[in-house]
Amino acid sequence: MSTIDDFLGGSLDNSSYPALGVDTNELSASDSGGDSELVPITGIDPRMQLLSHSSRLLLHTCPKKYQLYKLNSLDSGEEDSSRGVTFAYGTAVGVGLQSVLEEKSTNQIFLDTFLAWDVDLLDRNDRQKKSFWEVMFCVQKFIHMKERGYLEDYELVYYQGAPAVELAFKVLMPDGFSYRGKVDAVLRHKTTGAIVVLEVKTSSNAPNSAQYKNSGQALGYSVVLDFIFPELSSYSVLYLIYHSRGREFHELRFDKSLLQRALWLQELILDSKLVDLYEETEAYPMHGESCYNFFSPCEYLGLCTLSTENLVKPLTVGDVRAMDKREEEYKFVVDFNDLVEAQIKKGEM
Ligand code: SF4
Repeated sequence: MSTIDDFLGGSLDNSSYPALGVDTNELSASDSGGDSELVPITGIDPRMQLLSHSSRLLLHTCPKKYQLYKLNSLDSGEEDSSRGVTFAYGTAVGVGLQSVLEEKSTNQIFLDTFLAWDVDLLDRNDRQKKSFWEVMFCVQKFIHMKERGYLEDYELVYYQGAPAVELAFKVLMPDGFSYRGKVDAVLRHKTTGAIVVLEVKTSSNAPNSAQYKNSGQALGYSVVLDFIFPELSSYSVLYLIYHSRGREFHELRFDKSLLQRALWLQELILDSKLVDLYEETEAYPMHGESCYNFFSPCEYLGLCTLSTENLVKPLTVGDVRAMDKREEEYKFVVDFNDLVEAQIKKGEM
């Protein structure tokens, strides 16, 4: 059976990506035209095969939007790359809280938080109470909670000398697909040794457990934890949600069962098959019921009925290089079949 060492950096050869379907060695040799040179594609565009929690949500919301978004994504990223106050707010809160968990100095925590705010310092969303200063308030509140004993029974897990925060992982799936994600933090109960995946969220509305209870995102994380801690049979997920308008933290905990994880693996494959089917039939369904969401119309409204070729950006050498560079972020690379095998073995125990 594979061990975690098999999945960690160092030995990974990033020169060719089966998951991307593009040989970057060949690309370098033939590339004399710079980043804007087009890359010939045979079969499915590799950008369509990069799955993540957020891109799967998009696929379920509207397959057409998934297609247009993926083929227009400048960095070919796996997460929503739309910048703005909401994105910066969520990122900066996450970074600030992780720094607190790492027990960094207050100055370093604030500096990390500041550096994570990647829009104008004065940008704000007053309705949702999201601004850099609100982030700082949130981080200071968490510092005070920790000082008053919050999570005092838990310690941050260290793996190979590094804190288990922002653990980027990639699941290599059949037929060139891959699933990518990041675990915010892994904690261990000081007495029982129980492992908890901490997921930091921000929300402008008061959270409801129904929003998170059956979310596949945390299930993906726990599947990867099977490999990090092969001796453990159960984990729980702790959602720490900061309600921006109420300026308060909410905590939701869920245990994840073997059955739930097995179903998540099955659904992951089903989504890749769906994309394959849409490609084969050259038809990405339009879910008209999703054209108006969160009080605003879809950015492709009025456009998505036009010819797709006119709406998408062709794959360029620069895109492939950007994808190439991002590969280095993934410390944990896990084969889908190994995950299934591990699931079956745990089920037999
Ligand atoms: S406008 Fe509606 S149908 Fe078109 S891509 Fe957006 S959600 Fe899909």
